[in-house]
Formats: sequence, structure tokens, C-alpha cells
Amino acid sequence: MSAAPATRLRVAEPQGRIDVPAAERAIADLLVALGRDPDSPHLADTPRRVTSAYAELLTPTDFNLTTFPNDEEYDELVVARNLPVRSLCEHHLLPFSGVAHVAYLPGDRILGLSKLARVVDLFACDLQVQERLTQQVATWLDDHLTPRGVGVVIEAEHLCMTMRGVQATGSVTRTSALRGRLRDDLASRQEFFTLALGS
Ligand code: ZN
Repeated sequence: MSAAPATRLRVAEPQGRIDVPAAERAIADLLVALGRDPDSPHLADTPRRVTSAYAELLTPTDFNLTTFPNDEEYDELVVARNLPVRSLCEHHLLPFSGVAHVAYLPGDRILGLSKLARVVDLFACDLQVQERLTQQVATWLDDHLTPRGVGVVIEAEHLCMTMRGVQATGSVTRTSALRGRLRDDLASRQEFFTLALGS
């Protein structure tokens, strides 16, 4: 059996820093440009609140990725379903939210289960498109865990689709990204989708 200890990897810092005073000025300017009076009592605190909301949505929780040797030689899929996703569409700066189903086929190392939600959060707290978010989660797990396979499905509702434009209320966008055995082996792929999407 492997005597290798748990490995802790520090996760990369999120990109960019938020300039709070500049963002608050810009939100006040936006209100003026939209024909509103940012000095009215109703809107006086809005630039601060909007900036705070964006800062929260764009700042992932820092975490250490802890992996452990797969001493039990577990060789079946590990699937975490219904991990929360909340992100900001980079085209409209409107939220999209839903769930992620993340699976991996372990190699030499396994991961603390709560960390799968952290990895989703790491990339969701950004200006995003759902397709890229899905790929980034899969690629990150593939790179850091070197499993035999990775599968990620994200199902999300986009306010830019449901509240405006086509107003497709209740519509859900589903994306997937597969790596390794889950991409190349039909039976593994089918097992993943059954476990991830089954009721
Ligand atoms: Zn959008």
C-alpha cells in the first residue's frame, strides 16, 4: 500500500482585483446614463450595494485541494450531483444559476468530496459562459487529480434568456465536458450520464 501522505495544493488566486471606489463611481454613472438620479434617496446606496454584489459573485472562496492516496484501489465512478452553480454571464452581466454534476474515475489519488463543489465555485465566480465553465472544471480536475476519467454536466437557467430577449421562462441549458475514459469508452460514458442525470 502507498505510504504517500495527503497532498495539499494551494488553489490559484482569482484573476483581477476589484477596485471598489471605481466600481461605485461607474455604477453611479450608469444610473445617470440610464436616465436615473443616483442622488435620489431611493438610489443613494445603490452603487455601494451593486458593487458589493458583484464583488461577492466574482470572488471564489479560497481553498486548499487535499488529495489522498487511493489505498483501497477504488476503481468505480465517484459522482457528486446537484452541486450549486451561480455565475455571471459575461455577455449581459446577468446571473445564471443551476447545478453541476461532477464525476471522476479515480487513479492513484482521491479527493475530499466537498472539494468538488469548491472547484465548481472557483470557476463559477467569474464572468463566464456556461460552455467554458464546464470545460474549466473538467480540465482542472484532469490536471490536478490525474484521474482515469472526468465528467462534468452543468444545468443552468440564464436570466438573460428567461427575463429578456426570447423570455424562455423555465428553460434550462445543459452542457457537458468529458475527459479520459468517460470520453473514450462508451460504457463508461453511459454510466456517467445515467448516474449524473438519473432521478
Ligand atoms: Zn447572457
